Amino acid sequence: MPDHPDPETALHEIFGFRQFRPGQRAIVESLLRGENLLAVMPTGGGKSLCYQLPAVLKDGLSLVVSPLIALMDNQVAQLRLLGIEAAAVHSGTDRGERGRIWQSIKDGVLKLLYLSPELLGSERLQAALDRLPLSQIIVDEVHCLSQWGHDFRPDYRNLGQLPARYPDACIAGFTATADVATRADIESQLFAHRPGRVFVQGFDRPNISLKVLAKERADHQLVELIEPFRGQQGIVYRLSRKDTESTAAALRDAGFPAVAYHAGLDSGTRRQLLDRFLSEPDLVVVATIAFGMGIDKPDIRFVVHVDLPSNLEAYYQEIGRAGRDGLPAEAILLYGFDDIRRRRWLIDSGNADEAVKRVEHRRLDALLSFTETSGCRKQTLLGYFGEAAGPCGNCDRCLNPPALVEAGDLARTLLGVIDATGRRFGQAHLIDILRGEATEKVATLGHDGLAAFGAAADMDKRVLRGAVRQLYASGVVEVDIAGHGALRPGRKAAEVLSGEAAIALDLSAPPTKARRGRKAAGSTSAAPVEPAAMELLAALKALRLEIAREIDKPAYIVFSDATLADMAQKRPLDTEAFLAVDGVGQTKCGLYAERFIARIGEFAD
Ligand code: ADP
Ligand code: ZN
Repeated sequence: MPDHPDPETALHEIFGFRQFRPGQRAIVESLLRGENLLAVMPTGGGKSLCYQLPAVLKDGLSLVVSPLIALMDNQVAQLRLLGIEAAAVHSGTDRGERGRIWQSIKDGVLKLLYLSPELLGSERLQAALDRLPLSQIIVDEVHCLSQWGHDFRPDYRNLGQLPARYPDACIAGFTATADVATRADIESQLFAHRPGRVFVQGFDRPNISLKVLAKERADHQLVELIEPFRGQQGIVYRLSRKDTESTAAALRDAGFPAVAYHAGLDSGTRRQLLDRFLSEPDLVVVATIAFGMGIDKPDIRFVVHVDLPSNLEAYYQEIGRAGRDGLPAEAILLYGFDDIRRRRWLIDSGNADEAVKRVEHRRLDALLSFTETSGCRKQTLLGYFGEAAGPCGNCDRCLNPPALVEAGDLARTLLGVIDATGRRFGQAHLIDILRGEATEKVATLGHDGLAAFGAAADMDKRVLRGAVRQLYASGVVEVDIAGHGALRPGRKAAEVLSGEAAIALDLSAPPTKARRGRKAAGSTSAAPVEPAAMELLAALKALRLEIAREIDKPAYIVFSDATLADMAQKRPLDTEAFLAVDGVGQTKCGLYAERFIARIGEFAD
């Protein structure tokens, strides 16, 4: 490896990146000074580079503890393609391979050693580690260390002893999800013997645009929504296993390569699906949240929630799997009133004690304020995580601001009907009454005789459903879960009835077709590319897949989408120009320049 005097040069020459992403430089420099640190960065923020680059520049070996085998193996493959000596030891590493790895450590060649946390509990391994020239210990997904975190892993307890055992190595934890309590807990464990610094990078992922739509006919809507993403990769989340199957089938009927993924599948099948997801660039996975951690793929272009997630933390983490390469990606959430009822029911019917249930209901409330907000989605989301931000200019609310109208009369009429019918009916029946629909149920119960029967006859059913949802989110009505979802007056009802509180609602009809704003459509494809460049890009992707098959690794390990898009734009025809492409370092240039340049040459005339 050539001598790399400074981080900037190493960034260009080894990783091929033009510049550091926000926060990366400070962390790299801190590690180069040998400081302990905890770094909280958003998913896709580029955490791995923060420790990989110092690992290359520093003398000695860097230990990286990471919870997932698939993740470790991919990182190692990626590093090797960059010309960096790295290896992973975990339950799947055979004896021969382990022998070779220890030899390369003894020879002082290996720069990064990835280890699974349970191995750290082994005395033999610890004894072996004692003799190594460790320069830094990196703990990835460090929130797993804390009981306060949402993902505590008992194996991570073994890490607590590391700082005392290796006082000369600096220790650094990385995570994308640590609230204040979790963070304090992690600090007290990591920095028990030597103080450390904390770096918190903002939560914003500006390249992910947010959209929330009323759910009408889920599968049908989904197909329309992801039509612009044909040929690209995405994740669709559903709540139940059965629904993942039926939605995947609906997507296949519409010509999308789609598979269902859930915890009910045996581990071999799940493993196989994960492999397909990593290697097939257009596969759509319809999954329950069992499809979660460990999906570390940079070029996921869309994440759709067809059912309401449990809270904003979960939502944020799930959409965070999109667009890790920094290119535009879209997060779409579909939901209806039934989703809310289902979520409330899931909380109430669980085994948790009352205090926990109350917290869960409040977290669901926060999610509903997000789905019903008339302001910028991004601003609402970041605000929930304590981060102040201006309007994003890129969400459905910013692109098509809702026109709010005074709706006090409508709210009072609805409350009147709820009371007049004994607080015993759900939204569907109440809406039938308001619209003056003489259904059998209405007739049987004599509800067509109510004064308010037909009071909103001119209003679209979907508009009324939207109104009920908004009234629910603002506390004017609530749902009686035990009473099969009957509506009753909420905490704000009295103020609205007395006219004390004004109530403004968005009463515009939701688009029948999943309409896409021009701006949003344009921003979804990788960089603005003209048709000729699109063709070249397709050719480059085909070549990438060819190479990926040859080396038996996921395609993005060869080059990311961002790199190919930049390449299609710059059309390098010699190695110097090839090196100027973002994401092309010296090793990959040596490996692949010739083949890619030849392919680009075919397009030059
Ligand atoms: P995280 O672990 O924070 O979710 P990764 O480390 O996987 O994110 O990085 C996400 C993507 O960003 C990867 O494809 C990585 O190669 C890319 N990346 C990291 N740093 C930079 C940079 N400085 N410039 C361009 N791309 C980068
Ligand atoms: Zn916005």
